[in-house]
Amino acid sequence: MPVKSLILLLVALSTLKTDKQVPLQSKNPQPPNIVLIFADDLGYGDLSCYGQRNYATPHLDKMAEEGIRFTNFYVSQAVCSASRASLLTGCYANRVGVAGAFMPTDSVGLHPEETTLAELVKQRGYATAIYGKWHLGHLPEFLPTRQGFDEYFGIPYSNDMWPRHPNNENFNFPELPVLEGEEVARYLPDNQDSLTTWYTQRAVGFIERSKERPFFLYVAHSMPHVPLFVSDQFRGKSGAGLYGDVIMEIDWSVGQVMAALQQHGLEENTLVIFTSDNGPWLSYGAHGGSAGPLREGKGTVFEGGVRVPFIAKWPAKIPAGVIQAQPAATIDLFPTIARWLQADMPAHPVDGKDIAPLLLAEEGARNPHEAYFFYYKQNELEGMLSGDGRWKLYFPHTYRSLEGRPGRDDGQPIPYNYGVKAGLELYDLQTDIGEATDVIRTHATQVEAMQALADSCRMELGDALTDKIGRGLRHLGILGQ
Ligand code: MG
Repeated sequence: MPVKSLILLLVALSTLKTDKQVPLQSKNPQPPNIVLIFADDLGYGDLSCYGQRNYATPHLDKMAEEGIRFTNFYVSQAVCSASRASLLTGCYANRVGVAGAFMPTDSVGLHPEETTLAELVKQRGYATAIYGKWHLGHLPEFLPTRQGFDEYFGIPYSNDMWPRHPNNENFNFPELPVLEGEEVARYLPDNQDSLTTWYTQRAVGFIERSKERPFFLYVAHSMPHVPLFVSDQFRGKSGAGLYGDVIMEIDWSVGQVMAALQQHGLEENTLVIFTSDNGPWLSYGAHGGSAGPLREGKGTVFEGGVRVPFIAKWPAKIPAGVIQAQPAATIDLFPTIARWLQADMPAHPVDGKDIAPLLLAEEGARNPHEAYFFYYKQNELEGMLSGDGRWKLYFPHTYRSLEGRPGRDDGQPIPYNYGVKAGLELYDLQTDIGEATDVIRTHATQVEAMQALADSCRMELGDALTDKIGRGLRHLGILGQ
């Protein structure tokens, strides 16, 4: 591999936009700080508070004890770029034109006219920063500093789009353009070990620098997406292999952020959220995580792909020690935060709904959606969840599976079978969390009601499986367009 293709894989941006900051409005003098910690490919079964027994995650467990832990929290799609588009826009990824995972060779990104969480909080004068994985377009036109973030440091795409990926011959790594004012960190043989440390140091520094004003801090860890890397401090620490070490380092990082908030007296009025972009990458065996009791993993619409851990802590508002069994999803964070900040919603449709009553654990609160819809690949509506979180309906489609084969333990993947077929199937998640028993034959009324909701969704967002073109789709950002 040519030397120049080994470099320019970290981008550090620091752009001060003080001229664009809007003064705080007086109607809500103390909007909360927001810290959003997003892990990459961390599975439903990867934290001890979600049943992991091979290693411990004490800081995340403590966060759950002091706040709220959702048992039924969902991403919109079980793949990196699509999931992140939903998190940051409050929309289904296909609505904003994003599918799959962007590659370093792509010339696309989240459309600059989409409104991100960072742009939303800018209405209230927040300081904003992202440290970690962006993956919504690595070209200058699409980087976080064009989407409301004051600062960015991190890998603009996935961790396996570095040269040390075990299958790196599959990737052609283009040089990233260097803009005036950017700092570019060059690739060095061992610096991937420091990714979690680097992001953490910057997060703590940002809290320190921003303590006098409200802030939005987005820590988008590159870990535990393969290839796994961990600092010397955590190598061998879990006693459960490299994956356990990596998760323990992320847990440590959460502890560092919490300590910084406490140190600066910011803990009480800061909403800290921890979640993941999708379930575990099962073909990597011991280097992938665990979906716990759930079926399948990343890259499928089954529960193991789209249901993820979600913990939130905000001492001023969220009672301690709550376990929330109502469903909720990443698309709901945008409108919920908008309401808390009394910020204006964008003029275009947003799919998420305000779930404040669920996050604040209000008595009798119910999820406001009739259903959540799970698309995958190029706009295929493959599954949906009833709004009460009980019923999961699948539409006929093909998916990838190891079909019970165990993965390897050396960081190398084994091949999926990509042609496994799902039919029209219904599962009762209340009694069958592992989706083992198809109950479609005995629940015709339930299926009919969900099919009607799916038809409405297809009118709006389309569906390649039934040849529907949606009327509500917006455009992906494409270079030069
Ligand atoms: Mg991911």
